Amino acid sequence: MDIHSPLLKVKLLNPKFPNKTTGIINGRSSGLLNWNDIAYPQMYDLYQTLLSNFWKAQEINMQDDIKQWDQLSSPEKDVFLRINTQLASLDSLQTPTMCQVMDYVSDSSMKAIFAVIAQQEAVHNESYSYILSSLVPLSEQNDRFNQAKSDPIVQKRNQLILNSYESFRENPTPQNLFQLGVNSINLEGIYFYAGFAFFYYLAGQQKMLKTSTMISYIQRDEMQHAYFMAQFLRILLTENPKLNNEANIDYIYHTVGQAVELEKEWARMIFRDIDGININQYEEYTEYLANKRLRQLGLQNLYVDRSNPMPWIHVFSDEMMNETKSDFFEQKSRTYAKVTQSNGFDEL
Ligand code: ZN
Ligand code: ZN
Repeated sequence: MDIHSPLLKVKLLNPKFPNKTTGIINGRSSGLLNWNDIAYPQMYDLYQTLLSNFWKAQEINMQDDIKQWDQLSSPEKDVFLRINTQLASLDSLQTPTMCQVMDYVSDSSMKAIFAVIAQQEAVHNESYSYILSSLVPLSEQNDRFNQAKSDPIVQKRNQLILNSYESFRENPTPQNLFQLGVNSINLEGIYFYAGFAFFYYLAGQQKMLKTSTMISYIQRDEMQHAYFMAQFLRILLTENPKLNNEANIDYIYHTVGQAVELEKEWARMIFRDIDGININQYEEYTEYLANKRLRQLGLQNLYVDRSNPMPWIHVFSDEMMNETKSDFFEQKSRTYAKVTQSNGFDEL
């Protein structure tokens, strides 16, 4: 396999091939999904966990938040709206990207998981719209979306993700799929967190609790998405040793490091008038998150190993995420020489 040659779109049906694929890309797969006969059986647990997270925005009644909105200070309102539209912009990229990846993945169980993730991203997008429509008129929503589109710091940080997503759209090679996966982890596992932190900061003061409830559901989904993508990448690199090279391991460290710097820059800007959030602590939190993502990928910490400096951001404890903590990667990780043997499940 040439890691720089475009992958072909997987045929919908290949009756001569088995249902259980021989590879997650370029695999021989019939295209039929029988969950009882899949290459990585624990994908079914992950799929079940994703489904059990199901929620929708309208289940949450926004009346309390509508009443509280005018009690927020004007910097709080400003940050609230900026973050809301920024998160909506990021989630908008995920739905089409996850759908596109499905065309090139030759594992029917993983296609199903990408489909569920795409659906959840659509719900996230809707929830930001739902929050906005409860609080401000359409003209202000549009202004805020335009602000998110034109802000140079936002543009710069989105560009890191966009470059790899667009490269895969233009040229769907195994190498570009790998890079897309790394940046998807940056987006879901690092970029969202200044936004989450702000809503939990408000919730800590008993403000805008309905919004925070929705945000905590989004966070729960995103933790699972980033975890799935880390497992996907590990399998991709294990099955395709040519991708598991030093340059790509460097790419992971370098790109995660870039995402951390961009997230810090954004947080310094967005939190500058929010006294209750300690920016230095948030910067450490970003590094803590990056270490966690790297360990999920089976790699070493990039930053000082520290415990969570902002435990209040973690609404969902590791115990609550236990459903997916099984060692389905065990057999594979032994052949995965370039990364550590730890399977990363403690890092969820
Ligand atoms: Zn999302
Ligand atoms: Zn996601």
